Amino acid sequence: MNLSANYSLSFSYLYQLPLIRSEPYQPECLTSFVTRLAEAHCVSVSQLISKTITPQLEKIFLKNASGRDLKSLFNRSRALNAHGIMAEDFIQALERLTLHGNLSFLTLSTWKNVFIFKGLLRDTKAWCPLCYQKWLISKQEIYEPLLWTISEVEICHIHQTPLQKYCPHCFREIPWLTWHIRLGYCSNCGFWLGNSSYQQHNTTSLLNSSSWDLWIAETVGELLAFTPNLSSLPTQTHVKQAIFKAINQVTEGNIAAFSTLLNTPKNTVWGWYNGKNFPSLQALLQISYLLKISLKDFLTQELDFFNFIPSSNSLFLVSKNKQRSSCCVFDENQVEIALSNALAQPINLVPSIQQIASNLGLNRRLITRHFPDLCKALVTKRRQYQHIRHLQTIDRCCEEVQEATRILYQRGEYPTEQSVALLLSKPSYLRYKQVRKAFQQARHALGLMSQA
Ligand SMILES: [Zn+2]
Ligand SMILES: [Zn+2]
Repeated sequence: MNLSANYSLSFSYLYQLPLIRSEPYQPECLTSFVTRLAEAHCVSVSQLISKTITPQLEKIFLKNASGRDLKSLFNRSRALNAHGIMAEDFIQALERLTLHGNLSFLTLSTWKNVFIFKGLLRDTKAWCPLCYQKWLISKQEIYEPLLWTISEVEICHIHQTPLQKYCPHCFREIPWLTWHIRLGYCSNCGFWLGNSSYQQHNTTSLLNSSSWDLWIAETVGELLAFTPNLSSLPTQTHVKQAIFKAINQVTEGNIAAFSTLLNTPKNTVWGWYNGKNFPSLQALLQISYLLKISLKDFLTQELDFFNFIPSSNSLFLVSKNKQRSSCCVFDENQVEIALSNALAQPINLVPSIQQIASNLGLNRRLITRHFPDLCKALVTKRRQYQHIRHLQTIDRCCEEVQEATRILYQRGEYPTEQSVALLLSKPSYLRYKQVRKAFQQARHALGLMSQA
């Protein structure tokens, strides 16, 4: 029997789905793979994780398949695309279940020594509507590239448009994993997230995209594409030596001068230099940009090849681009439509101006300046909703206080303010007079005190 390379001698428990990479810089991320796997087996993501993956894990990330436990796991699901115990445990379990041998490249595991976890990945999804639409039209399978999970990546390097972070239909953020997900669709409202009309302002944004944002998307994409070629894990020692060499070559060992070039506090750079702390991904990108070297080369190239001579142009851009500016042209019509649509939303779904600005790739203040009345109406509607929520929370706390007082009394404990507070979901709400009154009434009803 002639077995082709695509066949395995043993059978996998779950389908060995081919990994997707629509172009070299866009390998898939692990949460996307898990979602596709669930869809291929016609089960929900929560069923796949709780029934099939969890029993294969070394550590306990899910005590039981209750809604609360799953929600807590889903809230941490960005960690699956990063590096660390959770990502590694899931990779090993999924490799056993699918007989794939290379799932670590769907995460940042390879970079665990040099990428600080804090701030590395975004909490909720970001996506390029044009990429989604392109894949849909070309009948390509919809997936989520690892590149979109990285906090520093703000634009799609292919279409040079800002990644969207809020659903344009319900204006909510979308978690990486939820009970039921369809890739390319909002898991809150179910609408398709691709959009070919995003193309209209794409042609103008092409000319105005920040070169810093574009460089980041390309250099991080290059790094992800290169990762499978590495023969060993990159080390902190290498990066520290590279920084040491850069400071010596660029500013002749003058740390203050180097920190000025980077527009970074001297103490921070001093910490990198003497090894007391380690730069974040943002700082590594700034250093690479300053040195006119790709992130991949800075983190992996032999030190002997380094010859850092920054140009005056790059110095200017690093300091200037630390504060990101809008990367899209201000289209009054488009902004007005977005604000009016937002205002027409049900009161519990009205987005903030910051959310609208982020979706349009614009500065919030710019929008407020051009449309003060619409923005004011939006703020008012959001405040009304916050007030309704506040009153609902107070009502709930009143019920909790009464329940807590009764429970303590039944246990034979005197219900003091402190002991009751320990049983409340929002102990600080005991400061509101309605909640205090409910507390007094509850104690009075039990004969513990006379009513004031
Ligand atoms: Zn795109
Ligand atoms: Zn939505």
